[in-house]
Amino acid sequence: MLFLSQSAAVYGIDALIVDIEVNLQPMIKKEDSYVTIVGLPDTAIRESRERIRSAILNSSYFFPFQKVTINLAPAAVRKEGASFDLPIALGILGANGDLGKIDNLNNILSFGELSLDGRIRPVRGALSIALTARNSGIKSLLLPEENATEAAVVNGIDVYPVRDLREAALLIQEMSEGEPRRVEPLTLDIETMKQIPSEHRFDFSEVRGQATAKRALEIASAGGHNILFIGPPGSGKTMLARRLPTVLPPLEFEEALEITKIHSVAGLTGRSGLITERPFKNPHHTVSQAGLIGGGSIPRPGEVSLAHLGVLFLDELPEFDRSVLEVLRQPMEDKQVTISRAATSLTFPANFTLVASMNPCPCGYFGSTRPCTCNEFQVRRYISRVSGPLMDRIDIHVDVPAVKFNELRGKGVGPSEASAEIRKRVIRAREVQLKRLNGDGVFSNSAMSPKQIRTYCELDSKCEALLEDAMTRQGLSARAHDRILKVARTIADLDAKENIESGHISEAINYRSLDRNYWA
Ligand SMILES: [Zn+2]
Repeated sequence: MLFLSQSAAVYGIDALIVDIEVNLQPMIKKEDSYVTIVGLPDTAIRESRERIRSAILNSSYFFPFQKVTINLAPAAVRKEGASFDLPIALGILGANGDLGKIDNLNNILSFGELSLDGRIRPVRGALSIALTARNSGIKSLLLPEENATEAAVVNGIDVYPVRDLREAALLIQEMSEGEPRRVEPLTLDIETMKQIPSEHRFDFSEVRGQATAKRALEIASAGGHNILFIGPPGSGKTMLARRLPTVLPPLEFEEALEITKIHSVAGLTGRSGLITERPFKNPHHTVSQAGLIGGGSIPRPGEVSLAHLGVLFLDELPEFDRSVLEVLRQPMEDKQVTISRAATSLTFPANFTLVASMNPCPCGYFGSTRPCTCNEFQVRRYISRVSGPLMDRIDIHVDVPAVKFNELRGKGVGPSEASAEIRKRVIRAREVQLKRLNGDGVFSNSAMSPKQIRTYCELDSKCEALLEDAMTRQGLSARAHDRILKVARTIADLDAKENIESGHISEAINYRSLDRNYWA
């Protein structure tokens, strides 16, 4: 007796349909193995034999006293994990005649890990699987309760949350015999979900003082620029970075889907459905290369992909391993990351805004009101730990001094502006850029090529003089030149000005403090 069941394997952030054939044959010799699984399974699938057997018996079904052969196809797709437990168990029940009149599961896709007692445990990648199933024309999806909300975001497929193997088997039997069903498909109000909420847990109105740093973050959001904070410990660098997602434009529905897929594949969505806030990731400085850009024998997304369409915050930048920072260059350039393995290579999206922070010197107090105990050599060595090529991709450097006592107490300063107000200006500036650059296939000022910089950042003689003065007298490096122009373009866009004016150039020059004060 041959019975067909269906599931899907997660591959990168997408899923591929896996056909599961279950064949029952009478045993010839006593020593014939009970269950054989073929089709490149890894050890997890081999272990699943015992789980499936126990789950079937504990769900009050018979385990067939026959030779059971299970084939997972296509064989070329590497499969891992326990998510095939449920479809294999259903296939065995089907082959044994325990699913009613139905003779295959071609219209029903299932996945989930089984416990020994038959309960169904959640797995990773539910959203990707639901999308693939829907696109393959499959009508129904049986899946663990915990994964259901996420999968139900997908239109055009019925999503049935099931708690245990018996419930899943009875549901299929009811479907095949046209009986009333005990489990109804989960329906979500997609239209309401599409209205991505704009409230955040954090807000710029909570940050006292730090006007320069806040302004720099507004410019970074408006032009898609990466940003570096330099300041002593306790000056609020983390607090500022944490609030950057609140002034970026709200997510589109498709963007929210993409972010949710990445988190789902990494097993980070839990019971929640769609992720509607831009991510903020701040890996510790001990993070490994694989942790940062992704890895594993079947690669999983790293922090750069989990920060996709949001913010990657690297606190204490010089403390990170140099080789770890080196691998950031590819995703920062390509907005995606490719992980190569012997047999294949996988690509994950990684379009993030980088916010980095560092102390000005090893003791932390260089240039501040407290005395610095480091000598010049120590300061230079500390700063040179961050590679030039990485610094080349950070347009804005800004000093974040310790907050003055008066500012901390809210004296002499007006109320801080709320994120929603700042965001309105950011959105307007982004619209201006899109109009200007869209034809060139570029979406923000920070992504302009040298040729585009020459076209869109023309300077009058006054601005030209200011820039030349900064380059020569203040000793700014050549690498600073194009960055200043790009940032000046964004400042002019925020100011709704067609041309870059001298005020815009002067402000942009100020955001090169590292070149000026520490680097050169
Ligand atoms: Zn120091």
